[in-house]
Amino acid sequence: MLEEITFQNKEEVAENTFLYTFSKPKGYTFQAGQYATLRFHKKALHQDDRGNARCFSFANAPYEKTLSFMMRQSESGFKKNMFDAKEGDTMQITGAQGRGTFEVFREGDQLVMICAGVGVTPMRSILRQSIYENNTLSLILINSNRNRRSTPELEWLEALPQSYSYIKVLNTLTDNDDSKWQGSTQRIDEAMIGSIVSDTPQTLYFVAAGVGFVQAVERILLSQGIPRERIYFDSFG
Ligand SMILES: Cc1cc2nc3c(=O)[nH]c(=O)nc-3n(C[C@H](O)[C@H](O)[C@H](O)COP(=O)(O)OP(=O)(O)OC[C@H]3O[C@@H](n4cnc5c(N)ncnc54)[C@H](O)[C@@H]3O)c2cc1C
Repeated sequence: MLEEITFQNKEEVAENTFLYTFSKPKGYTFQAGQYATLRFHKKALHQDDRGNARCFSFANAPYEKTLSFMMRQSESGFKKNMFDAKEGDTMQITGAQGRGTFEVFREGDQLVMICAGVGVTPMRSILRQSIYENNTLSLILINSNRNRRSTPELEWLEALPQSYSYIKVLNTLTDNDDSKWQGSTQRIDEAMIGSIVSDTPQTLYFVAAGVGFVQAVERILLSQGIPRERIYFDSFG
């Protein structure tokens, strides 16, 4: 079923990357980690050969009063419509989908979230919901980006472990050009995952990013003997 959502505002959270906030329809529910399809009305300003609809992970958490989505800007009609949206504009949203949810992950004894770029979006939702609930499921985030500018909410992510002992964060900037950056600049590999994760039979993995990244991480995890049933993916295309 499609529901109508009303655009409220946008905020730039990294270079060319925006967090778009909408009203939440009464009774609309989702779980942290899920996604939905957003669709523009037929009379949208910019036309889009691919249908003016795209899937997006929920960026904020179920407890929050609004819906938000994080997107990297592009030249597509859909993204131009998003960028040009004015307060009060409406669009449509489907129901929430996706197997990789906080409800499922909390059945494990720890959750390892591995992402790149806007793949951090469903992880953000999980982190926010977990903090809100005072949930102490061990959460490990491994987050890869080119540099500081292109990393959404880097300061917030870096600060999380200081406030919440059950959260570990490893940001890696693979094309770092900031001499002040003290953190990792390595690409994600077996050794990096091993440096922060002690796998157990109840450890669950959630991977989100473009298809190349997702496949590469899947290969690494499978080569470490981690069974497929413990690995969840959102491939952003
Ligand atoms: C479960 C899920 C969650 C997602 N969550 C997010 C999210 O949180 N944030 C986010 O930004 N994105 C997310 N995405 C991806 C999103 O749906 C879009 O695909 C993405 O943002 C690119 O959209 P675009 O309009 O910029 O580019 P598009 O125009 O959709 O192009 C995407 C890619 O397809 C290629 N392409 C373009 N037209 C064609 C064509 N006709 N035929 C074949 N290939 C073509 C382009 O070269 C480009 O590489 C998610 C996707 C999935 C499946």
